[in-house]
Amino acid sequence: MDIWATDVFNLSKMQTRLPKDVFESIKSTIHTGSKLDVSVAGIVAAAMKDWAISKGALFYTHIFYPLTNITAEKHDGFISVQRDGSAIAEFTGKALVQGEPDGSSFPNGGNRSTSEARAYTAWDVTSFPYVMETDNGVTLYIPTVFFSWTGEALDKKMPLLRSNAAMSNAATRLLKLLGNSEVATVNSSCGAEQEYFLIDAEYAQSRPDILLTGRTLFGRPAAKGQQFDDHYFGAIPERVQVFMQEVEERLYRLGIPAKTRHNEVAPGQFEIAPFFEAANVASDHQQVTMTILKNTAKKHGFMCLLHEKPFAGINGSGKHVNWSVGNATQGNLLDPGDNPHTNLQFLLFCGAVIRGIHIYGPLLRAVVATAGNDHRLGANEAPPAIISVYLGKQLEDVFNQIKQGLVPSSTPGGKMNLGVLTLPEINRDPSDRNRTSPFAFTSNRFEFRAVGSNQSVSGPLIAMNTILTDSLTWVADQLETNLSNGKALDAAVIAVVKEIMEAHSAVVFGGNGYSEEWHKQAVEERRLLNLRTTADALPILKKESIKELFERTKVLSASELESRFNVYVEQYIQVIEMEAKLVISIAKTMISPAVSRHLSELSTNITNLKQIGIESEFALSCAKTVASLTKQMMDSVTELDNALSTHHFIPPEEHMEYCAKTLRPMMDKVRKYADALEGEVADDLWPLPKYQKMLFIK
Ligand code: ADP
Ligand code: MG
Repeated sequence: MDIWATDVFNLSKMQTRLPKDVFESIKSTIHTGSKLDVSVAGIVAAAMKDWAISKGALFYTHIFYPLTNITAEKHDGFISVQRDGSAIAEFTGKALVQGEPDGSSFPNGGNRSTSEARAYTAWDVTSFPYVMETDNGVTLYIPTVFFSWTGEALDKKMPLLRSNAAMSNAATRLLKLLGNSEVATVNSSCGAEQEYFLIDAEYAQSRPDILLTGRTLFGRPAAKGQQFDDHYFGAIPERVQVFMQEVEERLYRLGIPAKTRHNEVAPGQFEIAPFFEAANVASDHQQVTMTILKNTAKKHGFMCLLHEKPFAGINGSGKHVNWSVGNATQGNLLDPGDNPHTNLQFLLFCGAVIRGIHIYGPLLRAVVATAGNDHRLGANEAPPAIISVYLGKQLEDVFNQIKQGLVPSSTPGGKMNLGVLTLPEINRDPSDRNRTSPFAFTSNRFEFRAVGSNQSVSGPLIAMNTILTDSLTWVADQLETNLSNGKALDAAVIAVVKEIMEAHSAVVFGGNGYSEEWHKQAVEERRLLNLRTTADALPILKKESIKELFERTKVLSASELESRFNVYVEQYIQVIEMEAKLVISIAKTMISPAVSRHLSELSTNITNLKQIGIESEFALSCAKTVASLTKQMMDSVTELDNALSTHHFIPPEEHMEYCAKTLRPMMDKVRKYADALEGEVADDLWPLPKYQKMLFIK
């Protein structure tokens, strides 16, 4: 209680520092989504400045969320020099509400020309300002949206706010049709579980691949990986726990409710999860969490890796985005309760999700398409790139009964007999969990498990909210028709759910999502798409149906969507090409010289032995192996180098395809020979710290 949210200018601080009417106006904007009254901005700004200065801040910044996965900030001082040469601290309402950073250097995907640099930031009242203390001092952070001179969103926050409003409208209409007279604003919520790796910083310093790309481009798997299953939920190493506690304390100060911490599956891998919050706030908080993980790691001699696949051969990292929708009057709209089969509201909202994911599953795949995430999705790792929905045994059963026109019933979870008298009676959940599904229902929310560990959660949240908006609108239309045809409410609802299941049950899958059979069945029988790489998935954003979806719901205009496509394509190509260049330079300037030294030691040894009359066949065969692997590695490097100089791509799709299908396999080939060499060359000569050292924190 002493530290919770002490660094946040939240409602309780506003209440003590603002006149009552101003406070009520701000509160109403936050709680009901009413328009911000700018006339109060000057008063709020002055109070905010006084508070920030009392916390030691001399500067403020509008923090914003451009299309990269990181945040951006430009700091301005409160200082204002007067005519007489004296200085005062000043923060006007205008400076609070609107900022104008130079926008020209942020990715905009071509929705304006290079000369049009004007871009604005505007205060998002729904996400509280806070002060952050770094080695460089204390700064006041004001979360903002970021848009161009023409009013187009250049960021991830504006569309998230729009998608939330659209979803709220559609949900409200449906809730009213269901007979609710009082319906509060509906909001989406998000609880994001963050997986990450920690390694000792000193090793990272000797690995240009980790420093530049966040992952190891070379590295032979250690003899011990995750095969013993001894890391997951294991005792947290002491040094790591000290690190985690500092992270948590810093998060608490910022009002970020860190709640869960544990070891993950791979050695050196951990997880942190907060208690869920309103999606917009959760998204800002998630971004801060990533920043704090990285910064705090440095202080403890670690490097925190958020890349989706830092190490080959062991699990990568994801970010499980738990998502639900609800409001103050009806509660969580995805809560099935004890009797889901009679819970009309739940059946419709959950049915709407099923329909939406069936129609727009490929969009969900596209919003998690990044170069890093390609190593998980569609590779030999969880979850698969095919987007299906896991409902759990009980719900799958209820929805199937409705599909078949039966009078539905729900199988309760019941009690468990553990055969030990002293243990209390334990309740069994009505359904098990499924770890192989990319989109799984868990108790009262969906868990989107395909999101990359390094990604902003906004993109996935925007997609889920927008898809749901579209589906809820369809559901409300159908329900309205059924009701006006004289059907009773429950019959009308069941008829809509039946129609959904008849058309969309192909997306519901409760089995093993990793299996070969599923991949075959999903694609061949159920007609679901298996978009393995970013090059396959991103073009979905160009589909007419997706453009219409975003336009209809007013979440993204056609040009905003197109600019996103362009930016993400460019990012993908840049990452692959940077990695390819680094593969070449590390092979040439680090590995090859080490191998030469090793070979010359070997050959000296062979000659010396010969002089004293010993014929070492072993040394000779080692030398031959090393020489031949080196030749193969360097041939592959040349091949990659030549391939990198091809530059004539007209549509960007072609360039992406080239990166995915030509460059990536060539990089893997260089790695294959280099990793084999790592197993041959003397340990003290090998220039890159090995997996064995990096993965097991002492
Ligand atoms: P898991 O067992 O899936 O790893 P965790 O406890 O690590 O579970 O994380 C679950 C996340 O889901 C937490 O962030 C939690 O707050 C969040 N969550 C719980 N209920 C909801 C909900 N209704 N909407 C959104 N997120 C939720
Ligand atoms: Mg978890």
